[in-house]
Amino acid sequence: MRLFEYQAKELFAAAGLTTPVGRPATTVEEAVTAAAEVGYPVVLKSQVLTGGRGKAGGIKFADDVEEVRERTAALLAMDIKGEPVERLLIEEKLDIKQEIYLSITMDRAAKKPVLIVSAAGGMDIEELADSNPEAIQKYWINPLTGLYPHHALVLFQQAGFSGTILRQLSGIAVNLYKLFTRYESELVEINPLVLTGDGKLLAADGKMILDANGGGVKLMGAEQEEGMRYVGLDGDIGILANGAGNTMMTMDMVSHMGGEPANFLEVGGELYKRSEEALNYLLSTRSDLNGILVNLFGAYARTDVIVEGIIRGMKANDINIPIVFRVMGTGEERARELVQDYLGISPHTTLDEAARDIVQKAAAYKAKGE
Ligand code: GDP
Ligand code: MN
Repeated sequence: MRLFEYQAKELFAAAGLTTPVGRPATTVEEAVTAAAEVGYPVVLKSQVLTGGRGKAGGIKFADDVEEVRERTAALLAMDIKGEPVERLLIEEKLDIKQEIYLSITMDRAAKKPVLIVSAAGGMDIEELADSNPEAIQKYWINPLTGLYPHHALVLFQQAGFSGTILRQLSGIAVNLYKLFTRYESELVEINPLVLTGDGKLLAADGKMILDANGGGVKLMGAEQEEGMRYVGLDGDIGILANGAGNTMMTMDMVSHMGGEPANFLEVGGELYKRSEEALNYLLSTRSDLNGILVNLFGAYARTDVIVEGIIRGMKANDINIPIVFRVMGTGEERARELVQDYLGISPHTTLDEAARDIVQKAAAYKAKGE
């Protein structure tokens, strides 16, 4: 499961990494508002899951509102390697002094994560790997002990960095490793990590691939049944999501929006076909929920099949607490129709919108009951 840049950057920011000021937009008018909030000059970035956007013309700059109108219209009419551009990220344009490459990926052969650094990051990193592999440094992380700042310091020094920036860079690598482990990632990548003219380091691009099968989150007190993982918490918002990383992200986002998750219920692997049971299980463990957030990210799992099961469960249980859906990926079109037909509201596409919505609705529901 690959995240969009704007999603990866939400997680980066939550992990303490500095990202450029930015706003998402799906229409020209939204882009105009976003650019005004961000401040000119801006960069207009197509949100697609295929790589190499820059080279494909998917990144443009704008100095004023006229340029925003003209160029966002052009971007929203494009497709990149067959993927239509449906969303943009409007960001402050950075004054780039240097582009650094930084990533952590799972080395399957070594069974260890590897930290990869290059002082010559940017769009030509792949050619660099072929033409000048010495310009790319690697450090294999011991998964038992984790990544310590001094490991990263040595690596950045080998990559040619010196002085005060070394400490900042190794802090960024340590945060990136926390993110990598927290979301059971296959890859977290910042390319470029930008050094600006005034000496700041910002993640100007972000790529994250989460483990599609959700690996094995080991949590204290977790009930595990064929890929269904339930952990009870103290809050009042039930969470039903698929995939380990996606579930964790959902919890984090609900907390970030000021809500309190009541549980952690992950429906993994084949279990997506049994979402009605998952909902029943959630309702049987807690009778005092003020809301439920269903967050589905379909890759292998079909979101329409999951939604179908949940709606069956809602009908059977005669649910009257607020329930908010966020749906994205495989089966999305039909899943949206099903939610729209049953609830009269269409599901959210972004997690932050969905989390904000359920936190508000749960608070209103609670207030009504008191
Ligand atoms: P990618 O092509 O999909 O990897 O997209 P990136 O987000 O990495 O952007 C591609 C390139 O656009 C970067 O390597 C930069 O050279 C350039 N770029 C992106 N954002 C900015 C910015 O804020 N300022 C400037 N000057 N260049 C940028
Ligand atoms: Mn990039």
